[in-house]
Amino acid sequence: MDGIEVFPRQDELGAEEFGNAIRAPLGIHRANMHRYWFEDAASGLVEQLEYLRTVKRLTASELESFTEGLSIPESVTSRPVIERPQYDTNQNSFQILQHVKVRAKRSGNYWTQCPSCAIQVRDRAMDNLAISIADPRHYKCWAGCTREMIREALGQPIPVRTHR
Ligand SMILES: [Zn+2]
Repeated sequence: MDGIEVFPRQDELGAEEFGNAIRAPLGIHRANMHRYWFEDAASGLVEQLEYLRTVKRLTASELESFTEGLSIPESVTSRPVIERPQYDTNQNSFQILQHVKVRAKRSGNYWTQCPSCAIQVRDRAMDNLAISIADPRHYKCWAGCTREMIREALGQPIPVRTHR
């Protein structure tokens, strides 16, 4: 097991977008028709509902005292800032989405393995590179690779501009 997954996994969703499905106890997985049970009771609806009747209910004040002071760290909630490149868009036909395979879509970005990290045998989770969905010219490696490094790694180095 890699860790704990926390749902919902998205801060927000655009129109037309769906978040991750959430599997709840007693629900039926639509692909394999398998029903998921509470772990602490035997499989079977009667046993499960029996179990539910025995679970301790929290009062509103208990719930409040258990959650009081709990907050989500800023580092988790803050959204990645995509660097705005300083270049003339007319002169630049490079489109990163033509060079990488998108692995995930969340928080307004596509996510994939950073090409520069990849050649250093890093970013095995394949989610260091954020590419703005709204404007894919903006992308950023969260391990700190520069645009130059990413372009180099793709065999698409940023052209050197000479003064005229
Ligand atoms: Zn990188």
